Amino acid sequence: MDHDVIIIGGSFAGISAATYVARARRPVCVIDSGLPRNRFADHSHGLFGHDGSNPADMLANARAQLAAYKEVSFLDGRAVDAQQTANGFSVTLATGERLTARRLVLAYGMSDDLPDIPGIAERWGKSVAQCPYCHGYEFSGRRLGVLYHSPLSLHHAQIVSEWGPTVYYLNGAPMPGDKEVAALTARGISIEPARVTAFRGQGEGLAVAELEGGRSRAIDALFLGSTPRFNSDLAERLGCEIDEGAYGSIIRTDMTKMTTVPGVFAAGDITRLAYNVTWACSDGVMAGSAAHRSLVFPDEVMGAA
Ligand SMILES: Cc1cc2nc3c(=O)[nH]c(=O)nc-3n(C[C@H](O)[C@H](O)[C@H](O)COP(=O)(O)OP(=O)(O)OC[C@H]3O[C@@H](n4cnc5c(N)ncnc54)[C@H](O)[C@@H]3O)c2cc1C
Repeated sequence: MDHDVIIIGGSFAGISAATYVARARRPVCVIDSGLPRNRFADHSHGLFGHDGSNPADMLANARAQLAAYKEVSFLDGRAVDAQQTANGFSVTLATGERLTARRLVLAYGMSDDLPDIPGIAERWGKSVAQCPYCHGYEFSGRRLGVLYHSPLSLHHAQIVSEWGPTVYYLNGAPMPGDKEVAALTARGISIEPARVTAFRGQGEGLAVAELEGGRSRAIDALFLGSTPRFNSDLAERLGCEIDEGAYGSIIRTDMTKMTTVPGVFAAGDITRLAYNVTWACSDGVMAGSAAHRSLVFPDEVMGAA
């Protein structure tokens, strides 16, 4: 067996998990393809002691601290397959290299498919975002917009309006019912029914939402729901159960972050509906320490020797 634990994904959840395994003095390998979800943002908000820090700097710092443990090895690359073996798991990289471990922690994160409207993709993480708790404060009192993505966008618009005057861009979706319109109006939210043809502004900033028919509306920041997808199908390949939530798929885990496959743990965005760096780190700590305990107490934790 090459390692006690292999961690697939070396970002907030994966490094947190690896740190706990390393501190338990167990050999751990972190495989990472280097594309964390928030790489589009220059500032990450809300993490204890790191509010406003640069995400790439945070990760580089965490990785350097982890590298100081002699039990840790890193592999820069992409895992493309994982299978159960007689006494653990094997992981295959895109290069064809194969590694083995007694336990796995999946921490490969999600990607966001964005609406195909000109002006959105290049502003993602700057003046276009999903989470107002992460990126709303910087636009306090400015002209905000929420773009329709699903019926849940109605709720999104009401939350975002806490941070400033908000326009709910239906983008051609049906007008909500009377009760919903009344709720939006009560919060001072105006409804824009027209399709949006483009978002424009200087550089990373937003200034204007251009509408079908030639009208436009001023806007400083746009919030939208993305369509999230797993960065990898390794959980499915291993036979882990997946749940369908209101915002997309998540890997089912128990309170210790073990999946439905004994010995396979999962952490971070791939296991949660609402997500952020704090929860990803916390999941990683739980998954890493639980993976370690499962090595000490295999019968109790895994039902297998
Ligand atoms: C634009 C934007 C801004 C955000 N701003 C904030 C913020 O201000 N505050 C906050 O708390 N949260 C913020 N978030 C949320 C935050 O990015 C995520 O919650 C966090 O990154 C989740 O961490 P994770 O470790 O689960 O996954 P990720 O950070 O996405 O990391 C997954 C890692 O796994 C790697 N990987 C994927 N597939 C494989 C594979 N097959 N093999 C090997 N490696 C693989 C990836 O390359 C990546 O390095 C933001 C998100 C976005 C999209």
